[in-house]
Amino acid sequence: MTVKFPPEHIVIRPPVEAYSVLIAVTGGCSWNKCKFCGTYKGMYGTTQDYALRPIEDVKDDIDQAAKYNYHGFPVFLAGGNPTSAPTDYLVEIIKYVRIALRNVQRVSCYAKALDILRKSDEELDKLAEAGLDIVYMGLESGSNTVLRLMKKGTTAASFIKAGKRLLNAGIKLSLYIILGLGGYKYSEEHVKETARVLTEINPTIFRFRTLNISPSTPLWEDLQSGEFTLLSPFENLKEERDIIANLGENVTSQVFNDHVSNYCSIDSTNIKVDREMFVKTLDSYLNDPRIKKLPRKNLTQM
Ligand code: SF4
Repeated sequence: MTVKFPPEHIVIRPPVEAYSVLIAVTGGCSWNKCKFCGTYKGMYGTTQDYALRPIEDVKDDIDQAAKYNYHGFPVFLAGGNPTSAPTDYLVEIIKYVRIALRNVQRVSCYAKALDILRKSDEELDKLAEAGLDIVYMGLESGSNTVLRLMKKGTTAASFIKAGKRLLNAGIKLSLYIILGLGGYKYSEEHVKETARVLTEINPTIFRFRTLNISPSTPLWEDLQSGEFTLLSPFENLKEERDIIANLGENVTSQVFNDHVSNYCSIDSTNIKVDREMFVKTLDSYLNDPRIKKLPRKNLTQM
């Protein structure tokens, strides 16, 4: 049975925010159409409509965290896209966090590129000044073909513009890339264009995830009908290897494979320095005959 959660119920957070204070700002996702995404469509046994929480309710939750002495912890403002909220609302919450919870290490949230583009440079500056340190954004692919097929609702050009404007405002940017999102048909384009967009943005961090398809996503039907084909572990690793190898020399991002869906756990604190090591390590995996026989994880939740 699938239950519908109210907006104050937090469905997901990034793995890196596992030990953070989680404060729900929005529920659900205002877009909720990406074909591969089941987060608010029942993947966790729950659905959740998009909603912006009343500011007094959010402040009550921050007061509760202060009461329980969560001072000095990082704070994650939860919900699919808190940046859909008016800037003044967000600034008030971030300032409240920083006063109520002393010595906060980091304030972060998910962000959608189109929400960022709707904000002026002055608004982004205000968010940075209030103390928004980093946003997590799903680029997924740099290929417009893949983005369109997956109904991401955003183009590569919009991601580049939003990413650069965030970085210019002094807000760190962590992008997610989904290996295998182009299936067999668009794998080459997915690799080439993703490397191009990452090179244009040079985000603070980018993180790999590997496509698994949940029955609660629209992509599940394409998988069942044979219209979409999942890549093997070998092919996913090859995509990652080729994305890294195709990055421009300017890219200094941190790179993480910090997700259960991945087939490797190689990380880098600066891909410009570690690129050769990264590619060589992936080549050594790809040259190991056992990798070709590795079964797919076939996760239905991520
Ligand atoms: S991937 Fe992100 S933008 Fe797309 S539906 Fe899921 S939460 Fe919304």
